[in-house]
Amino acid sequence: MMSGGAAADERALEAALRPRSLAEFIGQERLREQLSLVLDAARGRGRSADHILLSGPPGLGKTTLAMIVATEMGVPLRITSGPAIQHAGDLAAILSSVSEGDVLFFDEIHRTARPAEELLYTAMEDFRVDVVVGKGPGATAIPLELPPFTLVGATTRTGLLPGPLRDRFGFTGHLDLYEPKELEQVLFRSAGLLDVDLRDDGAREIAGRSRGTPRIANRLLRRVRDFAEVRADAVVTGDIARTALRVFEVDEIGLDRLDRAVLLALCKNFGGGPVGLGTLAVAVAEERETVEEVAEPFLVRAGLLARTPRGRVATPAAWSHLGMVAPAQAPF
Ligand code: ATP
Repeated sequence: MMSGGAAADERALEAALRPRSLAEFIGQERLREQLSLVLDAARGRGRSADHILLSGPPGLGKTTLAMIVATEMGVPLRITSGPAIQHAGDLAAILSSVSEGDVLFFDEIHRTARPAEELLYTAMEDFRVDVVVGKGPGATAIPLELPPFTLVGATTRTGLLPGPLRDRFGFTGHLDLYEPKELEQVLFRSAGLLDVDLRDDGAREIAGRSRGTPRIANRLLRRVRDFAEVRADAVVTGDIARTALRVFEVDEIGLDRLDRAVLLALCKNFGGGPVGLGTLAVAVAEERETVEEVAEPFLVRAGLLARTPRGRVATPAAWSHLGMVAPAQAPF
């Protein structure tokens, strides 16, 4: 009898693969150094660290870093997210249960509802929330003092945050897509933890298809492991990785369904562009933000899509990757 289901197993595996300290965290050298300075300074002063904002595409390690901040400061981590907080009262409840020094991880902070956001300003700046009691003209705001705590906010892009919120973070760190060599290190680390026999060429093959993203690298490793266990002798070589990833429809450069849909729409429906982000998002039935924050960073980095002042444009590499011929009037 199976318990928990495959999705729960995947989440548990992902959690098991999280690095627990800055030293274990691979890549993002500059950010690691900056963070370790911020944390060392706070520890030296015996104070909680300044609020920290982490920005970057999904799956690069923002949640992992928030956990590391709490671990390194030796304090508990509380977790919430923008979409989970729709009313100021939701946020007031969370903030009033925070203890001195706690790290409060606030995922997708740019999606917090407006009234809650304003409450956050005073909580971050003055460690105070004004709890409104009653309704209408008789309503009164009762100030509630909060103990000092560290807010770690995560967002896919700092530009999505209103200025006043951005300004309340003492430190902003940006996570970049990982280099293939770094992803190979992530893969070897995970293979060790999962007891997978991963060979150099296998790691290279998977890293090259992981879109610069550790979460994807770890997920592909698990799929390749499934294949290697069922169809081969459990050893992950380059050949096995290639064959397995073909079965799972991950192409040679790692484009997934959304990436391909964006490129196809750009080339097929709009002759390669330029086309506005909103129009492109409608064509692939996704939200603007998803196209911009999830698909585009890698497409731009892979040289397949360019953001121009007149709109999104497919590059010659995009046409050839799709096996299509660019029209003579192509914008490039
Ligand atoms: P999201 O914003 O979508 O939640 P995230 O940026 O918070 O994404 P995490 O959940 O922290 O990403 O990381 C995803 C997975 O990638 C985790 O399982 C973690 O083990 C792994 N990972 C991320 N960064 C690293 C790293 N630098 N070294 C090793 N593993 C990493």
